[in-house]
Amino acid sequence: MGKRDYYELLGVNSNATDDEIKRAFRQLAKKYHPDVSKEKNAEAKFKEINEAYEVLSDPNKRLNYDQFGHMGTNTNSFGGFGNGGFGGTADFENIFSGGFGDIFENFFGGGKKQSGFRNQPIKGENISASVVVTLKEQMFGKTVKLDLNIDKKCESCEGTGAKDPKKYIHNCTTCDGYGYINIEQRSIFGIIKSQQPCPDCKGRGEVITNKCSKCKGQGHYRGKEAVEIELPKSIYENQQVRIREKGNYGLNNGSRGDLYLEISVKPNKYFKRVNDDLHLNLPISYLDALLGAEIKVPTFDGDVHLKLPSNTKTNSIFNIPNHGFFKSPTSSKRGDLIVNMIVTIPTKLSTEEKTILQKLKNSSSFKITDDFYENL
Ligand SMILES: [Zn+2]
Ligand SMILES: [Zn+2]
Repeated sequence: MGKRDYYELLGVNSNATDDEIKRAFRQLAKKYHPDVSKEKNAEAKFKEINEAYEVLSDPNKRLNYDQFGHMGTNTNSFGGFGNGGFGGTADFENIFSGGFGDIFENFFGGGKKQSGFRNQPIKGENISASVVVTLKEQMFGKTVKLDLNIDKKCESCEGTGAKDPKKYIHNCTTCDGYGYINIEQRSIFGIIKSQQPCPDCKGRGEVITNKCSKCKGQGHYRGKEAVEIELPKSIYENQQVRIREKGNYGLNNGSRGDLYLEISVKPNKYFKRVNDDLHLNLPISYLDALLGAEIKVPTFDGDVHLKLPSNTKTNSIFNIPNHGFFKSPTSSKRGDLIVNMIVTIPTKLSTEEKTILQKLKNSSSFKITDDFYENL
């Protein structure tokens, strides 16, 4: 469906001044405001007018519109009614200075304000905690015990906030127990009726005359809670783990918020995760490398024996299958352990060792080959 010309919508000339545009908009907004208008499709019309005004009241947007038409504007930021979004309220509020935003929210705000009304359960807030694991714990998973500091439901009053719920909870007289009050506000649209949460009972519909001493009438209090969480196998670092309903308690029997865990892994000097594989830089003896040997390779599953051939060079790679990370938390399939041999020379020698090595020094196998010198 084609969009109507913005000037046409507001009923002004294309060379209209800012004041003329503002005046035209005010009149039309008054006429089509969905809560006072008897017109058909008032809401759609109101939205169109708004969009037009949003563009034409902004010098840059207007210039773009004048040059490129609807292509030159991006009015998608307009959130629309009904889901709480209302883009571009800044200009709007300027014109109707004084509290318009509030009324507006009550009309179109949707759930937000309403959720405070009586008996509406409110989900508790989400909380987060960070967990540091070793590489091995990351691979196999871990039972993590946390002492969380959370909003807990008060056991003394069962979350009611009253010393004795049967005696000290009464219907709020201000709102007659409804949780909200009707207000009338005079505005440029005439008298506007709307509902607001009751200021005396904060939308609960009831008041407590003798408050629970433990939670001071809140129904909840800040306290510690020990939780045990099974971290899945082979999760990734910085992966967010969500644990449902371990966060703060909700109001009016609303469900608890969620707990988000931020996982970080302690750095390991020798082992490193690369996707599903585990990499190991393994220091091996110079003589083992030279002569060959049966060596022990440490893995997270215990030692694995490996036959090292003679003349193993540094940075030689050996694969030990199925000793890496799990392909997924539920999979039994695993990546490899990839061992990188680091041939290591001794840092200290005894006199006896030196004597033996001196003897070898001049034997032919320990000399750098002629091949090297010939190719310099
Ligand atoms: Zn209490
Ligand atoms: Zn009330």
